[in-house]
Amino acid sequence: MEESAISRRDLLKHAAAGAVATSIVANQAVAAATMPPRKHRWGMVIDTQRCVGCEACVIACKVENQTPPGVYYTVVTHEPLPGGTTDRPVFMTKPCFHCENPPCVPVCPVHATYKRESDGIVVVDYDRCIGCRYCIVACPYAARYADFGDDYEFLPAAGAPVSPEYKQYRVRTAGQSPIGNARKCTFCLHLQDESGNYDEASGRWPACAKTCTGHAIHFGDLDDPGSVVSRLLRERNAIRLKEELGTKPNVFYLL
Ligand code: SF4
Ligand code: SF4
Repeated sequence: MEESAISRRDLLKHAAAGAVATSIVANQAVAAATMPPRKHRWGMVIDTQRCVGCEACVIACKVENQTPPGVYYTVVTHEPLPGGTTDRPVFMTKPCFHCENPPCVPVCPVHATYKRESDGIVVVDYDRCIGCRYCIVACPYAARYADFGDDYEFLPAAGAPVSPEYKQYRVRTAGQSPIGNARKCTFCLHLQDESGNYDEASGRWPACAKTCTGHAIHFGDLDDPGSVVSRLLRERNAIRLKEELGTKPNVFYLL
């Protein structure tokens, strides 16, 4: 079967396999509709025809965010082509989708995870998070991970990793956050300037997008009609995963 013959239904069905299903509370759509206007709607448009499955994005993300073993802010799935051919699998890199109606948010008993009003990025407040992991179960895209405190064996005893996440520059220390917390992709928001803008030319850009060897990951403001991501969505056919759940992901896949 030719790649162009993949139907949206097939790809959706395929990508959904194995992921956790969850219901969406009805009032999330109402809550989102009453939010004040945002400055940005950061999102990604990922070209499934360009991704070569090299996983450079996965490594770049781990280096950028200094995440420990077992914690990934993006993964690359390898799905066989619908129809049974083994010519070339469909590779899909999967960060957090920063959903418009994120089911991970309302389940948090201490309001530690929330969607930023300024730009829609879904974040975790490590100082509030109690590590109950409700959000990890609620995410239908398996985009969240628990930090169990594991560390890489090759790291020197001195000089514990410092993560730039949230511009907090926490030194990884036993018994202290983010150890014990839920963790997830932040669209590398620590690279934003004081105005909340990214700048690709100067490298202030999500690590996965600027490292992608196949130039498959495009990032930008989905509310800016002049952005590359908006143009791609006008010109190409795209899907969002599990759209039937009403989560409205801000990550799209070009077919
Ligand atoms: Fe929340 Fe999962 Fe959506 Fe990310 S992908 S916003 S963790 S529901
Ligand atoms: Fe909230 Fe943390 Fe529990 Fe997730 S693990 S629901 S962020 S307290």
